[in-house]
Amino acid sequence: MIHPAKSPVPGGDQASGLPGEPPPAPPAGTAPTSAVRRGPTYCEIPAPPELDWRPFRPESYLEYRREWDRRGGEADAGGFPLHLDMDPTSRCNLRCRMCPRTWYMERGETAWAPLGPGDMDMGLYRSAVEEGARLGARSVKLNFLGEPLLHPRILDMVRLASSLDLWVMMNTNAALLTPDLSRGLLRAGLTDIFFSFDSPYPEEYERVRLGASYEKTLSNIRAFMEAKGRMGLGHVQTRASMVLPEDPEGREEVKRDYVRLFRSLGVAEVGFGLPTVMGRDYAPLNEGLRFVCPDLFRRIFVFRDGAAGPCCGDWERRLVVGDLGKQTIGEIWRSPEYAELRGRHVSGSFMDVPACRSCSVPYLSAAGDP
Ligand code: SF4
Repeated sequence: MIHPAKSPVPGGDQASGLPGEPPPAPPAGTAPTSAVRRGPTYCEIPAPPELDWRPFRPESYLEYRREWDRRGGEADAGGFPLHLDMDPTSRCNLRCRMCPRTWYMERGETAWAPLGPGDMDMGLYRSAVEEGARLGARSVKLNFLGEPLLHPRILDMVRLASSLDLWVMMNTNAALLTPDLSRGLLRAGLTDIFFSFDSPYPEEYERVRLGASYEKTLSNIRAFMEAKGRMGLGHVQTRASMVLPEDPEGREEVKRDYVRLFRSLGVAEVGFGLPTVMGRDYAPLNEGLRFVCPDLFRRIFVFRDGAAGPCCGDWERRLVVGDLGKQTIGEIWRSPEYAELRGRHVSGSFMDVPACRSCSVPYLSAAGDP
C-alpha cells in the first residue's frame, strides 16, 4: 500500500515547524548555494517550491514534526519514541573511504557487529514496528550501519511499516537501486529516500565510494525519480547528500556542481556533511559546555541483532541500553538505564557519560555554523 498522505496541505509549508523555508526558485542555469543548518555537522539546500514535497503531506505530518522539535527542545521523552531507526542489515556492498564501518573493518574491530555482519530477523522487525505504530511512533528509518537494499525482504519491511501508517524513510547508496526495485519501493509505500552520493565528479566519486560506478548509480537515481514522477507521488521526499572533501579549498565549487547535478534530476534537497574525524577525542573541546542531546528524547536506534540505544554515532555500542530480543521498545524507552542517561544530560553532567564526553556533537553544536 502506498502511504495514505496524498492530498496537498492547504497553505503549503507555512505551519510545518521544520527548520528553514524553501528559497526562491533559482534563475535558469544557476544553482542555489545558501544552505540551512540541520545539525552540528550538516547543512542542506532546501527544495525550491516546484520540487517541494511538504505541500503534499497532511496536517498530521506537520504535527509530528512540531512534536519532534518540541521533544528535543523541552527534553521531554514522552512515553514512547516518535521515531524508530531500524537497521535491516549491517552488511554493505561498498567500502567507502569516509565511512566509520570501513574504518572499523580495516582495523579488525568488531564491537559494531559482535555477531558479524548480517541481517535483521523479520520477526524482530515486525514486533518493533507493530509496537511502535500502536504506542505512538510516527516514522521508521530503515538504515543505520549497512546498506538496506541488501536485506532480502526490504520490500516487505517497507510495506509493513506503510500499512501501519508510519512514514517510511531510507538512506541508500543507490548502487543496487534497480528500476524494478525503485518501482517496488514506491509501490510498497516508501515516503522518504536519501541518496548518499559523494561527489559531482565521476573520478572523485569512484575514488571515495569504493565499489560503485558513478554512471550506473546516477542512472539508478534518475530511474527512481522518473518512476516517482510517473506515479504522481508528490509527497515522496528525495534528498542527495555528500560528505565534503577534507580540504576546505574548492568546497564552494563542489557544492555548486553538486546542487546543479541533483537539481537536474529533480531531487528536492541536497545536503553537505563535514567529514568525520574518526578516533578523535572531543573531551577537551567539550569541557565547560552545557549540552542536552535532543535525540535522547525522540528516537531509538536498533542494531540488526536487536541491541538498542539512543545514538546514531554509537558504533562501538557504548550507549546500548536494551535488547529487543528480550524487551519491548516501551520497556527500553522507560528503563532506568535510559532515564539515567537522560538525567545526566538534563542535569548538566553529560561529561560523566564517557561516550558523550568524547563525542563531537556537543562541541560542534555550540560552535555555530559548520
Ligand atoms: S554520544 Fe554524542 S550524539 Fe550520542 S547521545 Fe552522547 S552526546 Fe548525543
